[in-house]
Amino acid sequence: MAGPWKNPETIVLHAGHRRDSATNAVAVPIYQTTSYQFDDTEHASRLFALQELGNIYTRIMNPTTAVLEARVAALEGGVAALAVSSGQAAEFVAIQNITHVGDNIVSSTDLYGGTWNLFANTFKTMGIDVRFVDPADPEAFVRASDARTRAWFAETLPNPKLQVFPIAEVAALGRALGIPLIVDNTAAPILARPLDLGAAVVVHSTTKYIGGHGTSIGGIIVDGGTFDWAAYPDRFPSLTQPDPSYHGAVWTEAVKPLGPIAYILKARVTLLRDVGTALSPFNAFQFIQGLETLPLRIRAHSTNTQAVVDYLAKHPKVTRVIHPSQQSGEYRRRADAVLKGGYGGLAGFELAGGADAGRRFINALELFYHVANIGDARSLAIHPASTTHSQLSPEDQLRTGVTGGYVRLSVGIEHIDDILADLDQALTKA
Ligand code: PLP
Repeated sequence: MAGPWKNPETIVLHAGHRRDSATNAVAVPIYQTTSYQFDDTEHASRLFALQELGNIYTRIMNPTTAVLEARVAALEGGVAALAVSSGQAAEFVAIQNITHVGDNIVSSTDLYGGTWNLFANTFKTMGIDVRFVDPADPEAFVRASDARTRAWFAETLPNPKLQVFPIAEVAALGRALGIPLIVDNTAAPILARPLDLGAAVVVHSTTKYIGGHGTSIGGIIVDGGTFDWAAYPDRFPSLTQPDPSYHGAVWTEAVKPLGPIAYILKARVTLLRDVGTALSPFNAFQFIQGLETLPLRIRAHSTNTQAVVDYLAKHPKVTRVIHPSQQSGEYRRRADAVLKGGYGGLAGFELAGGADAGRRFINALELFYHVANIGDARSLAIHPASTTHSQLSPEDQLRTGVTGGYVRLSVGIEHIDDILADLDQALTKA
């Protein structure tokens, strides 16, 4: 039961759990169990046959994880969610669920590096072709698609460029062709609701803002429930034709009485069952704790980041600041159409002194952590040219938006005076 609440501040505290059915506990209990006792053989067979939904084994479902799933589904405006062991696993499962050998997906080039590797290398070894297109031109997705295209993929607010993806425009083009848009909303929870803009599926690395504490790795897939898979049987045979791995179930038919959840239920009962990328109940509990303060934190991240951007924009050693507030024209229009209530916690800037200045700046930081993560409550910084992007040629670095002097900040929720003081002292040494 997600509950009747529509506002994120309420959803994160109440959706999917008011009190524990066994103990009346108000906090969500950690059900650290692998298995669940069946009432009798009849009950067990009904569960396995999906005639009744219930707990079977924690690789596939768990009551603690179910609360996280209900809350994130409600927050994104979806019908159901599936939590998994990492953001990477969320992307893998979200795509694998509807693709076979010989199929393809079309993806924006503006991607987190780990996602890029998954798409360009690992999917290739599995016979799934990923075609990369420039998100500046929504029609590029159409041109790159054919009868074997199973999905389009993009991030809401990709770094380092921080150019917001045209979700509504691309989703509408995809829906006309029967191609669902999957959006990674990791960098903009609360601020963006891709499902409202026409996306079919949303994924998150919960490792980032949803957790916020930097203690746990996890991911989640949210099914919007609005994509009509059955209307395109040739594109989605895995959902519309008998599945030999589940007694010949036709997912779009079998799941009808349970609601428009064919996509997400199939992912759970076939992929989680077979691949086993389950989230541990303890980590689900950690994300539930994080989620409770997400609306407050994301506002604080946005406000602090805007103050950092305004400070950097006036600094003589800074040649460029990368942030939606610094953009104009079409990019700014997209940012304002997609992000509501703030531009999030990420910002980039370029130092006049190039790569050496970037290294000196990072080494001088005292409050900011030098880590590869984003979305922590603490402030984080990285110099991509000497770390995350160091394996790329200088030309490829430039293509992804990384210059030698580029520094990425994930601005935390510490007091803004302390954040600015640390940037200020580090810039004197850059
Ligand atoms: N998507 C985005 C936008 C990310 O930034 C990351 C990680 O940095 C991931 C996905 C992968 O998430 P995880 O590290 O939880 O596997």
